[in-house]
This record gives sequence, C-alpha cells and structure tokens, in this order.
Amino acid sequence: MSAYADRLEALAQEAADRCTTCGKCFEVCPTARESGFDMLQGKERVAEMVSLTRDGGAAADGLQKWLNACDGSARCNDACPEGINVRQWVTIAKMKSLEVTRPREEGAASAASRFRHMAQAVRLLASMQLPSETLKKILAPAERRTADVLFYTGCNVLRTPHIVLNVMDILDALDLDFDVVGGTAHCCGIYQFQEADLPTYERMGHRTFQRFGQSGASKVLTWCPTCTKNFDELEQDVEPAAFDMGHVSEFLADNLDALKARFGADQPRRRVVIHEHLGIGATVASIRNLLAAVPNLELVELPQDSGFSYACGGQAAKFKDREQAIHRALAEGAVAAGADTIATMYHSCHRALSGAEALYPVKVVNFTDILAEALGRGGHPDYYRLYKAGGSMDEAVAAARKFLANNGVRVDENSVKSLTADIFNETGLAGGREAFAQAFTALAKEG
Ligand code: SF4
Ligand code: SF4
Repeated sequence: MSAYADRLEALAQEAADRCTTCGKCFEVCPTARESGFDMLQGKERVAEMVSLTRDGGAAADGLQKWLNACDGSARCNDACPEGINVRQWVTIAKMKSLEVTRPREEGAASAASRFRHMAQAVRLLASMQLPSETLKKILAPAERRTADVLFYTGCNVLRTPHIVLNVMDILDALDLDFDVVGGTAHCCGIYQFQEADLPTYERMGHRTFQRFGQSGASKVLTWCPTCTKNFDELEQDVEPAAFDMGHVSEFLADNLDALKARFGADQPRRRVVIHEHLGIGATVASIRNLLAAVPNLELVELPQDSGFSYACGGQAAKFKDREQAIHRALAEGAVAAGADTIATMYHSCHRALSGAEALYPVKVVNFTDILAEALGRGGHPDYYRLYKAGGSMDEAVAAARKFLANNGVRVDENSVKSLTADIFNETGLAGGREAFAQAFTALAKEG
C-alpha cells in the first residue's frame, strides 16, 4: 500500500473506533429510504461497515446496497452524535469493498472511459463558448502560478463557462490578486476514486492538490462541489495543506460588506427562488446572504427536497425519477409562489434546470450571474441555456463558429451526436433536442 492509501485506511479505522453503532446515520439516510431499506436496520448496516473496515473483505449484501446507493448528501454527518464524518467513511468503505470484489484493471478501464467521455464534452463545449486566450489562461499549470489566491474551477464547469467568467469578474471587482486554474489536466480524480483505481487517483486528484501547494498560494477557492468535497475529505483530512481551501461562495459571503459597497443601486426588481442543496459546507447560507444583499432582489422561500445529494447530476442521477420530480416541483413551485427567477447554486444544477425556461414562465440564472450584474460586470451570454431551451440557435451557432475557429477546434457530425446525447440525456428540464442537433450538425457540415 502507498503512504496515501495507509493514511486513508487510518481515517476509516478511526471512524470505526469512535462509532457506537447507534445506527442514527443510517436512519436519516435519504438514499437508504429511497432504496427501500427497512430504516430500523441502522445498527446492523453500520456494524457491517465496522467489520468491513476492521477485517477487510467484501461488504455484506445489505451494506453493499447502502454503499452503492449513497449520493453524498451528508445527512448522516449531521445525525452522528460522535461527530464522525460518515460520508467520508462510507466513501472509503465503498472503495475498499470494490478493491476486493473487482479486478483493479476493470475499475481502471471504467474510470478511464468515464474520464475520456467527460474530457471530450468539456473540451468541445468550452471551445464553443470561450476565446482561446481565456481557455489558455485557465488550463495553464497550477504549479507555475504566482498569485496569492487560486480560483480552482475543476473540469465540468467549463461546459457552462459564463459561470467562470462571472466569478472572475466578481473577484476582479474585489481587487483580488488571483489566478484562475482548472480543466481536465487539474482533475480532482473523482472517477478514479469512485472506481477504486487508487494508483491513478494518486497521480491525478492527489497530484492536483499537491500542485496547488507548489504554486505557493495561501488560499484556494473551489467552485465545483465534487472537487470541494473530494479535496476536503480525501486530501485535507489525509494531510492538512499549507494553504486554506473553501468554496468561492463562502469566500464571497465573508467579503459581503466589500461587495455591498460595490453593488449598484439600480438593480432590476426580482423575485428569486434559490435551488438548494445541502452537503457542501455553508454554501447555501452563503448564497442566500449574498443574494439577499442585492438591491431590489426579494428572496422567495420555497419548501424544497434539498436533503438529497449535494448537487444535481453525478451521484444524484442514480435516482432519476426523484431528480425529475425535484426539478419539476421546483419550477412549478417557483411559478406558483410568484417568483420570476430561479437561481442555481452549482454548474450541474444549472445544466439540469436551465431548460426550464422552455417550459415555465421563469428565468434561470446562476447566482453568480446576479452578483456579477449587481457589480456592473457580468452579462456573459449563457449559450448552454440556449442549447437547453431549444428554439432558435442562430446566436449560439454564430458564437460557436467564431470560438471554434479561434480555438482551432472543429466539430464533426459524430461529435455533435455525442454532445447532443450528453446535453439532453442528463436528467433535468429542457426544450426539444432537435434544434441543437440540426443547427450544430449544419455547423459541422461547413467543415
Ligand atoms: S452521504 Fe447521504 S446518501 Fe450517503 S450515507 Fe450519508 S446520508 Fe446516506
Ligand atoms: S451515527 Fe455515528 S456513532 Fe452512530 S452508527 Fe452512525 S457513525 Fe456510528
């Protein structure tokens, strides 16, 4: 075992040693309930996890089903009287069980295939929406950066790059000395960890984290909730870093007074519902505080099913019906409550909800769109929302034609097919896929 694997093992052993097997973590688990478990079996399931942690081997059937269902909500952490990070323990236990029940090569192949697919979609979508100088700036190696603050985007937000541009605008407005860093060369390694390919994880996620340290930055601001969770639980807890790390929304909320002083007074009147997820630090409370401070913006409170996964898509997509019901209820509830805007928290939520505009009389923006606009900046076109809403693609195609040429990237008909599936097969709200497929197939045929 590597030194990293040893330290991970020690974290799980420590959780098992502290656990009283009271079962409370299981009893509140939304995905255990969703999977049809008898919710009174918490003591048995956790006792199985203690055995797996101490003795190794494969997980018992009941435990394996629970581990597979986990979507990272962290409701278990809040319920644990011993203050154990149960989500982290479940993540490590799942990896341990996979390590002994499946050849590593199989997991490695699956992780590599998932990574390749993601990287291809990210590369194309970013090249369709961003100028090459911005892309190059984001993709440059972390360890060569010199600013005191690193804004780490992760990979997937580059599908909706207006969010990255908004955050850069907001940090600029704060007169911050920062560098932006991200893309697949700085992946957090989530696929490799999930597929129990620990050696590759160490060369990817673990290495990315080390590169932040090599840059000499004193602070790393994360965007992606998965990267935030990963680095928090699988890196910071394994070996504390020399830099401080936290989600950009928390940093902005800490700087609320400075932002407020820079907000323009003449903001449009808005009634806004925030699409909420729990599970990643104080992000919901931070975003609520930030938006509540924007002039002329009224927050509309809407009861929501926010206790499931920490973000839309990803692990949450294991429960498609539940995801769809949450998205529909949110859009319908927002309209019924007289809201005119849904503000999304993360990029995957934005992808899932931005097509709602085709179906409901409500606008969908990311919270960073509102903040950047309030600072007299922002206004970056949200082409992904145009794709998802359907209808005329003229503006999106014209932009893509220009950016693809600028980036030296071409799309062919196969990649348009693959992108169409990628964009429209995700659980969420959307207009018709035909408008995107036809318009971009025509663009691909231009050669
Ligand atoms: S993180 Fe959420 S889904 Fe996973 S075990 Fe804990 S409560 Fe259940
Ligand atoms: S709630 Fe905490 S102490 Fe109780 S079984 Fe779960 S991890 Fe163990």
